[in-house]
Amino acid sequence: MEMKAMFSDLTVLWKRWSEYRVVEQAFNRRIFRYLVPVPGATEVTYNCAEHAEQMVADALELGRQLNMEGTDQDRLCADFAVRYGLLGPDVELGQAIGEEPDTPPPFRPVGTIEYGEDMDSFQKEFKHLYQHFLHANGEGETPVGELTGLLPYRLTAGRTPQLIWEIKSLESVLRLTYAALITAPSRSLKICKNCGRVYYNPRAKSEFCSTRCRNYYNVKMYRERER
Ligand SMILES: [Zn+2]
Repeated sequence: MEMKAMFSDLTVLWKRWSEYRVVEQAFNRRIFRYLVPVPGATEVTYNCAEHAEQMVADALELGRQLNMEGTDQDRLCADFAVRYGLLGPDVELGQAIGEEPDTPPPFRPVGTIEYGEDMDSFQKEFKHLYQHFLHANGEGETPVGELTGLLPYRLTAGRTPQLIWEIKSLESVLRLTYAALITAPSRSLKICKNCGRVYYNPRAKSEFCSTRCRNYYNVKMYRERER
């Protein structure tokens, strides 16, 4: 079965909060930086598999920007979290949830306002995806590893058994959708010819992330020819 057909009706309900910030907390005698919802932020539950292609493009673009110097990395990560939520890397395995008041945010229940993720691990996910994408485009410089993941499912019993995916995390949806897009015969994840931004467009001819970039590029080319 083709990947897209296999996951066509995928629904994964995920929580995102209206605002995030980075906090520092000691754990095992080390200071960690965690990305957490701001106290008083409001929650939204949504199907994170619905517009997963756009999310993949945004994730790759975040990975690209995190690699650039002089960017506000905390703000970029917080912006992504506002749009899609945190990644939930340990959800498929089952989390180790702590009860003590000083329990670090990653060991709090996923989806609660106390839950947060380690900033280094959070950033690594996007940088890794972007490096993988660069290699797939024949541009990667630093070596990059494979992407792996778990795929929980359930097969119902009865006369017409149904295969139901039990995917529980944003990270799994992100990686699976990226895997589907990057292995498809036609490329829909593109790099803008003008500004270098990563964007999603299934039309084969698309070369620019926006009309503005197309116009800008054409004017630039025209001027170069004039000279
Ligand atoms: Zn552009």
